[in-house]
Amino acid sequence: MGFKPREILFSSTTACNLACAHCDIKRSRTVLSKNSAQKFLAQCRSLGVKRVGFTGGEPFLAPDFLCGVASSAAEKGFTFNRIMTNAVWWPDEARLNKSLVRLRDTGYDGDICASVDAFHLRHPKKLARFIETAVSVWRRPDVVSIACVAGAEDKKTENILKAIADSLGARLVGFNSGHPRIKGESLFIKILKIELAPVGKASAIKNAWDGKWFKEDYCKGPGNVFFVLPDGSVKSCCGYATDSKTLTIGNIKRDSASDIMKNVLGNKFVSAIFNSGLTRIRTRLQHLGVKFPGKTSSHCYFCNYILTKVPRKILNKCLSVLILAVLIASAAMAQELKAARDYGLIPTRVVRELAVPQGYHEGLMHDGKDIWLCNGEGGKVWVIDKASGSVTSMIEPVASFTEAVTRHSEGVYYTTEWYENKVYRVRIEGGRMVVEAASSVSPAHPAGVLWNGEKLFVVAWTRGFGTKFHILEMDDKMKVLKKIRITNIQEPDHLAWDGRNLWLTSWYTRRVYKIDVANWEVLGYFRSPVSKTTGITWDGKNLWLTGTYGDLYEIEVGN
Ligand code: SF4
Ligand code: SF4
Repeated sequence: MGFKPREILFSSTTACNLACAHCDIKRSRTVLSKNSAQKFLAQCRSLGVKRVGFTGGEPFLAPDFLCGVASSAAEKGFTFNRIMTNAVWWPDEARLNKSLVRLRDTGYDGDICASVDAFHLRHPKKLARFIETAVSVWRRPDVVSIACVAGAEDKKTENILKAIADSLGARLVGFNSGHPRIKGESLFIKILKIELAPVGKASAIKNAWDGKWFKEDYCKGPGNVFFVLPDGSVKSCCGYATDSKTLTIGNIKRDSASDIMKNVLGNKFVSAIFNSGLTRIRTRLQHLGVKFPGKTSSHCYFCNYILTKVPRKILNKCLSVLILAVLIASAAMAQELKAARDYGLIPTRVVRELAVPQGYHEGLMHDGKDIWLCNGEGGKVWVIDKASGSVTSMIEPVASFTEAVTRHSEGVYYTTEWYENKVYRVRIEGGRMVVEAASSVSPAHPAGVLWNGEKLFVVAWTRGFGTKFHILEMDDKMKVLKKIRITNIQEPDHLAWDGRNLWLTSWYTRRVYKIDVANWEVLGYFRSPVSKTTGITWDGKNLWLTGTYGDLYEIEVGN
């Protein structure tokens, strides 16, 4: 828990060739210093941040920054997330081609995400030309994705997307489904829908108080990034309240990446929102007598509201109580870790390290031949060849944050979905998971899942003041038989079964525990070779491990 940056998102410039109706970006001539950004990249690498993205304004209007920083990031082994662009910034085709080739030659291999919807100016033909050029420069049918604002003017947006698809000789598929895309013969454009946050100019477009309270997500979407603005200031998220000074956690011209992490500890609001959650801030404010105009399902709108409308004195009082609770919970956690040191150390040997593509690695499963690797938020399940480490096929998961998968019997699997708080029983057909049954573990979030031939074990996190961890024992119908509270292992994550005992990884401590499930006794532990250890599986002889951003490790376990 807490602020854990996974990405650096550079907003190099506020300059833009468009003037969209909902845009609140304050224009200035300042362009982020390339040298400061490159220095910051190097510092972030040692903090374990491995992903980079670019936004604006229009980032292609600062090409020296974009290409210089992309080149440094590629050299330092960062992975690329996406560049947000309006895709119509180019004056002529020669310039478009030259700019994209220059970017490709830096080693940039992330997404190029075009903002297309009823709010951005509409040039379907020009957009289509941009897409065709990018696909031909990168020789990748899926190099371009589209982000569109949803929740207002949806019909207009759909028509614009159809016009772009027409210009490309392709089809818009499933606009109203969970997986909208534009598909052509050698073209695949994923469409991401972003809910319109009715702040600033967009507040006239949509009523923010829509009668539902937002679902707690600890800012998982736009949070946990270093969002670097053109003046060098760094925010803890790229949500819609970032205009507020309260979300500033440093400045790369002045502070190192580790100074910025220290600043987070001193920023009560940022600490509270990432540790306690926005829901607790809301309920605590209500307890202190604050009345809101209604309920809103938009996290960032609500965040912006409390930062701009709630009197500072009351907000500070609320935050002090929440931070105190976090400190108490951390002290309890330290006590528990001290107790854990008494377990015996199990001898292990790393047999080999297998390089696998970067992603957001979660659970592992050995299927008798290959290793399946789940990829957390937005990722597919990869089937990995154990000899080469290459991904031989991909499975489309049930929803947006797949934690783990385990095999029950021929063609039947269970999978856990973090955001939806659900365990699913699925079949796999045509490369995708098809749901047969679902079981909610709400309010807990399920992480690891394991079928050991008799029972289904699910690791469950119930977040709040001092997150509570449990292992749920279920039958094959996903009915909970027993709920075991885990107090001596911090942030238990994924599970493996070696035929007699359970193995459990800890995301927090880098330890892997061996557990006798007859009486839930910890038999010992070993230190994982990979930081932020997540997935674990047993191949019949050895264990395999991975970490959030790690490779695969085969581990031989001694007695
Ligand atoms: S393209 Fe983006 S930065 Fe430019 S005006 Fe539109 S919303 Fe603002
Ligand atoms: S809720 Fe606030 S802190 Fe969280 S992502 Fe949105 S703007 Fe950022």
